Amino acid sequence: KVKVPKPASTRIFTISNQKGGVGKTTTTVNIAAAFAKHGNKVLVIDLDPQGNASTALGVDHTSEVPSVYDVLIDDFPLQEVVQVSPESDNLFCVPSTIHLAGAEIELVSQVAREHRLRTALDEFVTAAREAGEPWDYIFIDCPPSLGLLTINGFVAANEVLIPIQCEYYALEGLSQLLNSIHLIQKHLNPGLHLSTILLTMFDSRTNLANQVADDVRAHFPDEVLKAVIPRAVRISEAPSFRQTVITYDPSGIGAVSYLEAAAEIARRAPKSPQKKEQQ
Ligand code: ADP
Ligand code: MG
Repeated sequence: KVKVPKPASTRIFTISNQKGGVGKTTTTVNIAAAFAKHGNKVLVIDLDPQGNASTALGVDHTSEVPSVYDVLIDDFPLQEVVQVSPESDNLFCVPSTIHLAGAEIELVSQVAREHRLRTALDEFVTAAREAGEPWDYIFIDCPPSLGLLTINGFVAANEVLIPIQCEYYALEGLSQLLNSIHLIQKHLNPGLHLSTILLTMFDSRTNLANQVADDVRAHFPDEVLKAVIPRAVRISEAPSFRQTVITYDPSGIGAVSYLEAAAEIARRAPKSPQKKEQQ
């Protein structure tokens, strides 16, 4: 078993890509489960009204369950809505319910509408640290559009993880996403930076996949992980059993590659954007 170092302080990632169906949720839940398996204390925040991350992590997210909606709109503390995932004692989830679909509109008239999640998370992370049970990793799963929910994710995070689907020419859509990250850094969260790019749905037999991977690596040599997630049926099957692939098929290629990706992320110390500019 690989030994992975614990982070010096809580690392908070938002998983982002302004496209649907590119593997954001699959990346979120499997990377999170991989970190939990490596012995870290991990939280997933489901910010997508579709609730796919909540489903994959096996937590209750029927309409009457307190959820991230109550945190964003009614100032519930995260402590009151967090659930432990049946996947692992180390893995927790703040679920999304159907109510979150309305939050995008309801947030518009709220005070500090971009900072609602950040404020709740700061309090939650501090309380855990002071109690001597700090969070190691927090992953926020966002919807595909750049609305107030996704912006709340960007403002609450320190790091952006972009999953890139190796099945079409991915770089084209990326400049819009990078521009959004830049705007968030400038106006809302100077502590945010793009730290990690994960190539996923990779099929080494196709020229396109290899070409996309080469291009992305050439443009982002420091951000792209060496570990690559293959296209694998087990990965897409796992959510229908309300499981991550780490539990569903623990020795398969899917689980092994997510565990590798997590170990690689753990070994890279997060750098602050300020420091990067001085260099
Ligand atoms: P998003 O959250 O970006 O909308 P999802 O994570 O829901 O995307 O993935 C979209 C679809 O692709 C899902 O059906 C999922 O099961 C499938 N998928 C994601 N990653 C893989 C993979 N590595 N191998 C096979 N299928 C995958
Ligand atoms: Mg999703």
